[in-house]
Amino acid sequence: MMIKKPFTILPLALALLGPISSSPGLAAPTPAAVPDTIAGTVRQTAPAIYRFTIGDAQITALSDGSVPLDLHQLLRGVSAQTIDEILARSFLANPAEASINAYLIDFNGRRILVDVGAGDLFGLGNGGRLLEALAAAGAAPETITDILITHVHSDHSGGLTKAGKIVFPRATVYAGGADIRFFSDVANAAKSGIDKRFWTQTEQTLTPYVTAGRVKPIDTDGEVVPGIRAELQPGHTPGTAFYTLTSKGQSIVFVGDVIHAGAVQFPRPDVTITFDVRQDEARAVRKAAFTRFARDRMMIAAPHLPFPGVGHIAADGSGYRWYPIEQTDREPMKERLKL
Ligand SMILES: [Zn+2]
Repeated sequence: MMIKKPFTILPLALALLGPISSSPGLAAPTPAAVPDTIAGTVRQTAPAIYRFTIGDAQITALSDGSVPLDLHQLLRGVSAQTIDEILARSFLANPAEASINAYLIDFNGRRILVDVGAGDLFGLGNGGRLLEALAAAGAAPETITDILITHVHSDHSGGLTKAGKIVFPRATVYAGGADIRFFSDVANAAKSGIDKRFWTQTEQTLTPYVTAGRVKPIDTDGEVVPGIRAELQPGHTPGTAFYTLTSKGQSIVFVGDVIHAGAVQFPRPDVTITFDVRQDEARAVRKAAFTRFARDRMMIAAPHLPFPGVGHIAADGSGYRWYPIEQTDREPMKERLKL
């Protein structure tokens, strides 16, 4: 593994990956209360939230933290040299940092989460800050009514439990039925060649909700909660779902892992990542989705783009460009959103 910077590539690169074997030296400490220092380094940010509105929905982006990704190891269909050239154009270098974003939605009398971050799974200092962010947003876990999981991967469903215990006692959890079935049957690890940890982590995080009768699989496109529609987009995982919220003529699409490394995959949407369970389908889903998002000027929310991960994309040559939303600390951008 090529590492150019004097730090170690940690968990997302390990926990999410398939083929890389685990290292006993990277065992995660038990994250009790998250301290404000990590290995003697002061945290770079306070718990991060960013609030905006879409119609009558109040949406709060929640930062679960960020993790380094070794794109040389992870991206497929592109050389390390080309990756470095593309990154350099964006003033970046490998390893690239990936945000882990989740979203809180207060809408139609419900309090909804889209994804829940990595929880304990990546270890201290690598994600797992969702509960801090929720506290900063003034939302107690007991008040969450619904959780929409874009796909059953560690950094999206890992925060469902803490030390094996259910974190959101009143919530109904929605996820693609194909993901629930795929990641609940460990025989699929051997069949697919994907790291078995995805299955053990599903057992730790999703299964307690299944056992409690709180999981509703999504097997067809349609409304999951009032005003939010699920659209199955198998590729990255068998049951990946987009969720589109619409209110008063405005909308936003929560797109899950249709993109990981924006600096590379916007200009080169053909590039896939090791985490894509079905590489060809993931590439096709990304191309079709980007075409639609750009053509229809759709606002999207992406878990791994720089926090808050909300903005638009536009065609740019043979690829696309990312336009993050403007930051404001005033009342909503309601008028501006009517673009
Ligand atoms: Zn992810």
